[in-house]
Amino acid sequence: MSTILPIRHQVSLPLDRLILRKPPLAEAIEMDVLIVGAGPAGLACAIELARLAQRDQAAGGSAELNIGVLEKAESLGEHSLSGAVVNPRAFRELFPELGPGDFPFRQPVPDEAVYFLTEGRAQRIPTPPTMRNAGYYTASLCEMVRWLGEKAEGLGVNLFTGFPADALLVEGTAVRGVRTTPSGLGRDGRPTESFAEPTDLTARVTVLAEGTRGHLGQAYREWQGITSPNPQIFALGVKEVWETARPLEHVVHTLGWPLPADAFGGSFMYPLGRNQVAIGLVVGLDYHDAGLDIHELLQQMKLHPLFRRQLEGGQLLEWGAKTIPEGGFHALPGRFGGDGLLMVGDTAGLVDVPSLKGIHYAMHSGLLAARAAYSALRAGDVSARPLSAFDRAVHDSYVARDLHRTRNMRLAFKDGLYLGGVKAGLMTITGGRFPGGRIDMSDDAAAPRRVTPAEPFTPDGALTFGKLDAVFKSGNATRDTIPSHLLVGRDVSGEVADFYARLCPAGVYERVGEELRVNPPNCIDCKATDVVGPRWTPREGGSGPKYRLM
Ligand SMILES: Cc1cc2nc3c(=O)[nH]c(=O)nc-3n(C[C@H](O)[C@H](O)[C@H](O)COP(=O)(O)OP(=O)(O)OC[C@H]3O[C@@H](n4cnc5c(N)ncnc54)[C@H](O)[C@@H]3O)c2cc1C
Ligand code: SF4
Repeated sequence: MSTILPIRHQVSLPLDRLILRKPPLAEAIEMDVLIVGAGPAGLACAIELARLAQRDQAAGGSAELNIGVLEKAESLGEHSLSGAVVNPRAFRELFPELGPGDFPFRQPVPDEAVYFLTEGRAQRIPTPPTMRNAGYYTASLCEMVRWLGEKAEGLGVNLFTGFPADALLVEGTAVRGVRTTPSGLGRDGRPTESFAEPTDLTARVTVLAEGTRGHLGQAYREWQGITSPNPQIFALGVKEVWETARPLEHVVHTLGWPLPADAFGGSFMYPLGRNQVAIGLVVGLDYHDAGLDIHELLQQMKLHPLFRRQLEGGQLLEWGAKTIPEGGFHALPGRFGGDGLLMVGDTAGLVDVPSLKGIHYAMHSGLLAARAAYSALRAGDVSARPLSAFDRAVHDSYVARDLHRTRNMRLAFKDGLYLGGVKAGLMTITGGRFPGGRIDMSDDAAAPRRVTPAEPFTPDGALTFGKLDAVFKSGNATRDTIPSHLLVGRDVSGEVADFYARLCPAGVYERVGEELRVNPPNCIDCKATDVVGPRWTPREGGSGPKYRLM
């Protein structure tokens, strides 16, 4: 049996393109703080900064603060995807004057149930403590982001949507801002009639809130030599929102089928009010079988009686996919920033995988970053030393404490579901002290994959869908004539092409004979191939999905 080692076929990060040691363009837009990414982390940061400045001004203090947020989606929330069950803690911190009824949540978590699935059966098992969600709410991240964006705009924050940050502008070791992508390039990479030059935005502090597998965060860490005890690892989540004929009474999580025992992951099904349901499957990208296809597994999963009886008679409203940083505490970067720069939310790896929670950590880290940046700005020194107050604040907060408690849980599953399950149980009982130390992980791209023949799957178009229909349901609005933003490595054999085709949930890759064919406009920015295959780079603003409900 042959194997594939993904890292052999991957190009390295194009650092010379991502770190620009050039002075900003003469017409650069100047900001005090520039935030890259309008997700929960970036928007919480912007809101807290604007509030701090307003309070200062009201007390007769300093001048106005110019805050900008860059977002690659055409409109707020269109690139946002989560589960989501939300711990409301960070909303309460950010808006102490509001109550849960004021927040953009769909409903309180009703009963919950965890099942172990086999192909035809669902065995209910006790809910592990890490998966208990009493007191939390189900929600759509797109809706939360639109709501947070309105609050930020109301406070005078400048939101620049449809502007992907392409590169960091640096001077010495200091980050001075970002350059955006150009738009209007033809398939051959040459300017067309609608060509628009990149824009430079400079700032005294730049906050990277790009979310999962951010390319600027990766570049910054590599350039600055910032390491972590374990490398960051990722999972891919594929998700659908359904309109259903009957309400879902429980928050549901499952383990087991349709995943092979040597892959880490599980599914979720959440009620979003009376007649909508979110369903998704999340799988660690260190899986061993090169033929594994997470989109197809989700389709098969919906045929299981547990899901079929909920979805049958309903209709698919939206489909999407995104990666999740899964490395936890041991993959946190050695520092969260440097001269003129801070990293927050998923960019910094602040996700607790056993509970599948990242939103309140992202928001709390945004809030702490705002406080550190504001003090540094007021003191007139935005170098690494004053900004490192953010590192201390994160490590003293519930964010680092929660991640520390579950520090080895995801890592235990590298030995497979059953042994991992036993170890995770012991870790829960001992509050994270078992097994002591740190379980070593390697990069996802360094995990070898067995080449196995793939079973053909034929979607029925009612309950199950192929990748092209799925991409249509993401609202993908990318121009067909866009140049490729995917950097494919050398020596991509037919077998490797098959691996990419199975991995990508959006049908971007195809094996044609022994060659790889790439269809870049299908890409929905999930970043999965950036982890173990062709590198993703940002493209013209407004490309990609147009999620409304994710
Ligand atoms: C399938 C799935 C299920 C999940 N379930 C839950 C759950 O139930 N509960 C929970 O709490 N968490 C959950 N999470 C995790 C949670 O969604 C994330 O931790 C959270 O969204 C992180 O927030 P963020 O602001 O750091 O990043 P994001 O929400 O990813 O936001 C980043 C933003 O930056 C933008 N951006 C990226 N690059 C650029 C660029 N170069 N220029 C401009 N803009 C850019 C993106 O378009 C995006 O809008 C889930 C995640 C997934 C994928
Ligand atoms: S090509 Fe795009 S959609 Fe496909 S895996 Fe890579 S980032 Fe995701």
